[in-house]
Amino acid sequence: MCGIVAYIGSRDAAPILLEGLARLEYRGYDSAGIAVAAKGAGQGSGQASLKVRKSKGRVAELAAQVPARFAGKTGIGHTRWATHGVPSDVNSHPHLDQSGRIAVVHNGIIENADELRAKLQSDGVVFTSETDTEVLGHLIAALATEGVELEDAVRAALKRIVGTYGIAVLDAEQPDRIVVARNGSPIVLGIGEKEMFAASDVSALVRYTRQVVHLDDGELATVRADGFNTFTQEDARATAKQPSIVDWEEASYDTAGHAHFLVKEIHEQPTSVERTLSGRIDERFSTAHLGGLNMDAREARAFRR
Ligand code: GLU
Repeated sequence: MCGIVAYIGSRDAAPILLEGLARLEYRGYDSAGIAVAAKGAGQGSGQASLKVRKSKGRVAELAAQVPARFAGKTGIGHTRWATHGVPSDVNSHPHLDQSGRIAVVHNGIIENADELRAKLQSDGVVFTSETDTEVLGHLIAALATEGVELEDAVRAALKRIVGTYGIAVLDAEQPDRIVVARNGSPIVLGIGEKEMFAASDVSALVRYTRQVVHLDDGELATVRADGFNTFTQEDARATAKQPSIVDWEEASYDTAGHAHFLVKEIHEQPTSVERTLSGRIDERFSTAHLGGLNMDAREARAFRR
């Protein structure tokens, strides 16, 4: 399970996505990619199209491939930790449908991917990657091309998925929004000034905003430059979310002068252990209290695994 970053606003998305992905590097990954939606520049079509760059390797290598002019004010990015298919350029996210209209980034595992892939292939869909994620792009696109709103298409596609996901979806035809969803893999929204962010981890957002909204499992959000709305996967019922303020220092999300995150974490161990144990150790009785385990001895003994 790796990293997701998304941006929508008045700035070009690519540099913000690349910066956010670099902040997620500490999680480890094997490849990275971005997609941005841009008005069909120079074609006079007035239609939006997607620009995609993705490759195996480091975020810095991806950044080197992104041209200086990579215009698009709505975009999604990903660092991948391969579960289905080897680390490679084609298996990197974002994954697109056949027409190149829908782009998806995904953290997690789609358990019934083989079954869905076989069904889509029998309908004539040609796959370009070995990933479980690619089925999502095709499922969403099939509905979006029928004129279904992006959020409804995403919700309907997710109904067919068994597994875990944090996703961000971009539609070339509806670049005024990004749709994100969470089930077992975190998604957090970041609220800016006439711009919005989304990520799998606040560390990708703290440079831009401290105002965040954590999605719950089974929840989706439509994110626009001027705000967002959240709703349930089950029945599209609107949910009410209160933004919270991240009060951590930006240094908490970087190496704080150490050569590597590993070194920083080693130095943090005494404080981390102290924090973990505080309130759980009762010196008077030389014992520990583990909150949350509200079961009696008979229940505890009944566990077989
Ligand atoms: N299962 C997906 C893949 O293998 C996503 C992996 C991830 O969470 O990075 O491409």
